[in-house]
Amino acid sequence: MSTRKYFLILAFLSCCFITRAQTSDDQFRKPLKEVIADIEKQYHVKINFPEDLVKDRWVTYAGWRFRPSVDVTLENIMASQDISVQKQSEGKYKLKAFQYHLKTPEEGKEQLEYLWSHFNDKASWELRKDSLRSELWKALKLNPMPAKPASKPIVTAKRQYDGYTVQNVALETLPGVYVCGSLYMPSKLKGKVPVILDPDGHFGDGRYRADCQYRCAMQARMGAIAFSYDLFAWGESALQFKSQDHRHALAQSIQALNSLRILDWMLSFKNADPQRVAITGGSGGGSQTMLITALDDRIKLSVPVVMMSSYHSGGCPCESGMGVHLCGGGTNNVEIAAMAAPRPQLIVSDGKDWTQQVPAVEFPYLKKVYEFYNKANQVENVHLPKEGHDYGKSKRLAMYDFIARHFNLDLKKVQNSEGEIDETKVTIEKYPMMYVFGEHGERLPANAVKDFDVVKSYFK
Ligand code: ZN
Repeated sequence: MSTRKYFLILAFLSCCFITRAQTSDDQFRKPLKEVIADIEKQYHVKINFPEDLVKDRWVTYAGWRFRPSVDVTLENIMASQDISVQKQSEGKYKLKAFQYHLKTPEEGKEQLEYLWSHFNDKASWELRKDSLRSELWKALKLNPMPAKPASKPIVTAKRQYDGYTVQNVALETLPGVYVCGSLYMPSKLKGKVPVILDPDGHFGDGRYRADCQYRCAMQARMGAIAFSYDLFAWGESALQFKSQDHRHALAQSIQALNSLRILDWMLSFKNADPQRVAITGGSGGGSQTMLITALDDRIKLSVPVVMMSSYHSGGCPCESGMGVHLCGGGTNNVEIAAMAAPRPQLIVSDGKDWTQQVPAVEFPYLKKVYEFYNKANQVENVHLPKEGHDYGKSKRLAMYDFIARHFNLDLKKVQNSEGEIDETKVTIEKYPMMYVFGEHGERLPANAVKDFDVVKSYFK
């Protein structure tokens, strides 16, 4: 480049960014970092932020967004940048990247009041529910469903334990795409028995975790057939896909499809009782629990654990990536959970995450929908104010009791001589025992897809 040309470009750029930044010609553009410094100086406040959040960012009409109140000024400026403002104390603020899945608890409550102002009886609620449901199917790109592979499930040998058995199973849910899980059955299967889906959440180590094993083994010891299964691109699905593939929005569609196809498969068992079908999971598994129950009436009972909240929609693309919460002009997980009514539902909440205000805020709304059906007694909330975000023992005990009551299972089968529910008869397996495809993935079928673009093509 000639020197002359270089200087001309430089002159042009400085014209754009310096001179024009001060006028309407360039929409009064100013670097965000400078604007923050201006706010700090003008209002005598301190604003903390990570450097990479403001890097290369510009604010249009910067000075025009200033107001006498520093709070309003910050709101005006940062809303234009997808940045959230957190007031830490008087005169002290913190900036964070906008998190689309989060509202403030007050905004969550406000949205509930707004949503519930639209229906006041069973008829108006069912209209809302039906239109929401068809929008959910569309948002997930599951209407129509992608073609179903004709292959038979891959099932490993049975391990026998005290009152139950375990087998590892892989189901081909899309051509060359497998979902793996563990099938827990009562040792003695007689007549029709309940079926329980146990979708996994984002807790480390997925379905291999002891709490996952306890929960399914106990369901089987109580007399039900239970299946615990991997998230997409987690567990053995990671033999096919990179962990980053879990961050694609379509992970939500794939996981919903997996649950629906697992449901088809489990209902094909000769002992399966279609009148007693449940789903339960914690956190991301709780999101899956609410969504599948809303989508499919074959689910007769649901137990979403530590997830139902008016102000948190689930921050992982597998929970909110396909925009299901934008359906029906905007919804939330409380309304999605309400779509279970009048089917029995237990909400488990705790004091340390976004379910902290469930008893006071979310649960009364949920109950109102059950009241439209005169079935308020079918929905319950177990709130554990001292506990945090997990599917720990006390949460599992509440779930066992709820399922046993509604599905006519004999809790005595899992109680000790003191009449307490006892998990000590469960054998916790070592992780490799739970693999379908072998310790090194050596038995992964030859048709296994390893390219996410191929999966994408199934949803076109
Ligand atoms: Zn996820």
